[in-house]
Amino acid sequence: LTILMLLGFSLIISLLVWWLLGRPRSMEGELKRALRAREFVPYLQPLVASDGGKLMGAEVLMRWQHPTCGLIRPDLFIPQAEECGVIVPMTAQLMQTVAQQLASWQDKLPDGFHIGFNISAVHCRDFSLLAQCRAFLAHFIPGRVVLVLELTERELLVADPHTLSLFRQLDEMGVKLAIDDFGTGHSSLVYLQQFRVDYLKIDKSFIGRIGTESLSEHIVDNVIDLGSRLGVALIAEGVETRQQADYLRGKVAYLQGYLLGRPVPLPRFCGELRSSAPPTPCGVELAPCP
Ligand code: C2E
Ligand code: MG
Ligand code: MG
Ligand code: MG
Repeated sequence: LTILMLLGFSLIISLLVWWLLGRPRSMEGELKRALRAREFVPYLQPLVASDGGKLMGAEVLMRWQHPTCGLIRPDLFIPQAEECGVIVPMTAQLMQTVAQQLASWQDKLPDGFHIGFNISAVHCRDFSLLAQCRAFLAHFIPGRVVLVLELTERELLVADPHTLSLFRQLDEMGVKLAIDDFGTGHSSLVYLQQFRVDYLKIDKSFIGRIGTESLSEHIVDNVIDLGSRLGVALIAEGVETRQQADYLRGKVAYLQGYLLGRPVPLPRFCGELRSSAPPTPCGVELAPCP
C-alpha cells in the first residue's frame, strides 16, 4: 500500500511539473500572455478625401509584435482570437492605446477626424463595447473625432434584439458603422437592410481590378450607385494606382490604399500629422511568423 501511495504521489508531482514547465502552450494561452504583455499594437492607415487628397481619418489595424517571431499580420491570429473570445479584450486594449496617444495629438487633428476600428461579430454581442466606445470618445474634445466601427464578415452578424439594442445605443452616442470588404461576404446586403449603416467600404479585390477588368468596374459602379441611393458614404479600399484613384474621384467620398499611405505604427502616424499632409508611403515590411 505504501508503495502504491508513493507511486501515485510521484505521478501527481510529475504531472504538476509537466503542466507548469513542459506543457505546450495553447494558442489561447499564448494570446492571453501576449495581451498581458501588451504585444498587440496599432498601425494606422490614412483615409483621404477622393477629391483633393485631404487627410480625413485613419483605420486602426492590429499587429502582433511578437518577441521572437517579429511583426505578425492580423489574419494569422485574429480568427483564433475570435474563436476563443480574446478578441474582445484585445480590441478594448487597442482602443485604449489609440485614444491615449491620439488624444495627446488632438490639436493637430482636423475636426471630425474619422477613426475606424475593426470589430468582430462576437464583440457586437458584448455590451462592454458601449463602455469601450464611451471611454474612447471621452479622451477627445467633443466633435474632434468620429468613431467608426468596421464590421467584418468572417462570422455572420445576427440582427437579434440584443445586437440591435447595442447598435441603437451606439447610434445615440454618435458612433458610426461601416460595412467592411463590401461585396465579398455572404451577408453584406442583409446588413444594409438590418443595420443603420453609415459607410460602405468597397473591397480591394474589386478596386484592384479597375483599369484591367471591365466586369469589376461594373461591380464598383453598381455598388457606388447602391450606396448613393441609400445615402451611405463610400470608401474605396486597396487603392494602389493613380489610374484607380482617377477612376474613383468624384464617385466615392474617400480613398484608402498603399497609393495614399501604408499602415504605419501609431507614434509615427502622430509624428507625421505635424505636416498636416497624409503620411507618405513608407513600405512597412510585414514579416509573418514562420
Ligand atoms: P481590413 O479591415 O479590410 O483592412 C484592410 C487591409 O488591407 C489591411 O490589411 C491593410 O493593410 C490592407 N491594405 C491597405 N491598403 C492596401 C492596398 O493598397 N493594397 C493591398 N493589397 N492591401 C492593402 P491587414 O492590416 O493585414 O489586415 C487584414 C484584416 O485583418 C483587416 O482587413 C481586418 O479584417 C482584420 N483586422 C485588422 N486589425 C483588426 C482588429 O483590430 N480587429 C479585428 N477584429 N480585425 C482586424
Ligand atoms: Mg477594416
Ligand atoms: Mg476591408
Ligand atoms: Mg479586407
